Amino acid sequence: IKGRYMTRYAFYDKAMRDQMIEEQMIVRNMEYALHEGQFVINLQPVYEIPSKKIIGAEALVRWNYPKGPIPPSKFIPIFENNGFIVRLDRFVWEEACKVLRAQIDAGYNPLPISVNISRLNFYSQDLLEFLQSLIKKYDLQPKMLKLEITESAYMENPHQLIAMVRAFRGNGFSVLMDDFGSGFSSLSMLKDLPVDVLKIDMAFVQEVDKSSRAGAIMESIVELGKHLNMDVVVEGVETQEQLDFLSKIGCREIQGYYFAKPMDKEAFMGLVQRSQDI
Ligand code: C2E
Ligand code: CA
Ligand code: CA
Ligand code: CA
Repeated sequence: IKGRYMTRYAFYDKAMRDQMIEEQMIVRNMEYALHEGQFVINLQPVYEIPSKKIIGAEALVRWNYPKGPIPPSKFIPIFENNGFIVRLDRFVWEEACKVLRAQIDAGYNPLPISVNISRLNFYSQDLLEFLQSLIKKYDLQPKMLKLEITESAYMENPHQLIAMVRAFRGNGFSVLMDDFGSGFSSLSMLKDLPVDVLKIDMAFVQEVDKSSRAGAIMESIVELGKHLNMDVVVEGVETQEQLDFLSKIGCREIQGYYFAKPMDKEAFMGLVQRSQDI
């Protein structure tokens, strides 16, 4: 028994040590990586059903670390702890604005791009001014840039977030509630927070085949969106069955591997061009 305990202890110890080493590596390299252009954005299209037309995209950060890509699930939580996410997010927003500008310069009808706003950004006094300066710099309309926020920002400081969301919308930006339904206060938050779009948490759609409850909840959220005059996006759609279900319950906007995975800027621009060729 003692020997067994020792091996398990050694196992946890090693796993924890590996994780610490990886975390230190990430923190040690982040500044240089940003400076050297190792961070890039990918764009994942959002489609409308039943037309199957592309109607927008979400910008997602990627770290092309020279020894191999590091997934966001590894570095985002670390950057949310040490504050670097604020700089990285601003970089991503600017990259998204460049893609909007590139669409206009190419003569396309620009598709809106949504960007993630980590909760730490809400502690910056100049958040709105920064976004406005980007819109100005790239000569865009604020409605082209959609702002994705999450419940965690609300839970930390509801009054401040409500004021910020009002200010965003008052200045022409659209606001999305990301991962809707994944937190503890989704409904009470919705009561106070005037967002334009609900993005239903991936966990629901990925369970519709197994659980009729997940399906019933999704159907109710789509209905709720209609009553509150909000668009509803479902993300994480991977199969034809899921798509069929969503069409049946009257869902109109979909993001998921079934239609397209996140892709680099060049591939995205090609897709936009083909979608607008008539
Ligand atoms: P999220 O904002 O909920 O983004 C959606 C995630 O789901 C993305 O993962 C996307 O690639 C993935 N996804 C989309 N469709 C499907 C599907 O059909 N099946 C499955 N299994 N996954 C799908 P990604 O890019 O790895 O990002 C993970 C999370 O990291 C994001 O979740 C977001 O919370 C965070 N993140 C990514 N980029 C940024 C960023 O620029 N800023 C901030 N603050 N967070 C970011
Ligand atoms: Ca998101
Ligand atoms: Ca999400
Ligand atoms: Ca998320």
